[in-house]
Amino acid sequence: MKRIALIAHDEKKDDMVRFVKRHLDLLKICKLIATGTTGQVVNEKTQLKVKRMASGPLGGDQMIGAEVAQDRLDCVIFLRDPLTSHPHEPDITGLLRVCDVHNVPLATNQKTADLVLEGLLSPGADKNK
Ligand code: PGA
Repeated sequence: MKRIALIAHDEKKDDMVRFVKRHLDLLKICKLIATGTTGQVVNEKTQLKVKRMASGPLGGDQMIGAEVAQDRLDCVIFLRDPLTSHPHEPDITGLLRVCDVHNVPLATNQKTADLVLEGLLSPGADKNK
């Protein structure tokens, strides 16, 4: 079962809910983890089971980064708000970095998220591992 992390900044939470609803059938067969508020919103709006870490500003991005560092995630969907500054910017940068270190697919906008998820869950996707 694929393990997927979901994170959305406040301005992107509606987009995240739309993303999850669009891919509900695929995501139903995945293990989902999320930063605190993102996980809560996704669970409330879609009824999907989501394991919740701390909220992003309280260390949730670092907790997801730790999962990446232990090769326990297949992809990270991180819908970032590029127009707002965030107090936990260093944590955000750290999460992006650790995804690159571990070669974990990372989507930071909706269109890339669609492509990454469809690629990850397409038949034969494991062939190139
Ligand atoms: P949140 O965190 O899901 O708890 O809002 C996201 C973030 O800001 O990194």
